[in-house]
Amino acid sequence: MTNLPSFEIDHDLLLPGLYTSRADVFGPASITTYDLRIRRPYKDPTLTVEEGHSFEHLLAYYLRQLPEAKKIIYVGPMGCLTGFYVITCCLDYESIHQNLMQACELICEATKMPGDKKAMCGNNRTLNLAAGKNVAREYLNILKSPTIADNPPKL
Ligand SMILES: [Zn+2]
Repeated sequence: MTNLPSFEIDHDLLLPGLYTSRADVFGPASITTYDLRIRRPYKDPTLTVEEGHSFEHLLAYYLRQLPEAKKIIYVGPMGCLTGFYVITCCLDYESIHQNLMQACELICEATKMPGDKKAMCGNNRTLNLAAGKNVAREYLNILKSPTIADNPPKL
């Protein structure tokens, strides 16, 4: 059995941040999966379902309002509820860092939850704009840390 790279990192030592989880090349396409770590595993409370679901809707929506929207392939919460994965095409670390900062700033100003109608979502009862905005504020502070901007951490 082949192990997954994300299973081989020591989650006990993982700090909040922005990490390159994996990089794959398919022909001319460079696909990078970024690990948006918001909570320290086993040390901080995990995100609630409401926080995770709400930030997912907001982040997916606002990343796609930015000029590099077409390079965002997927946005989704980790099952462990300590962070998110964003899968990108041809988007380097500095660019995803800038895009995430801009998206979180837009989320902090959001006045409505995107995709909150029953037909648009599998469980709109767990969407809460205030909860999603709180996560955006929390992650924005993490993204503003000088160690992230100047020295991309490696997993
Ligand atoms: Zn949903």
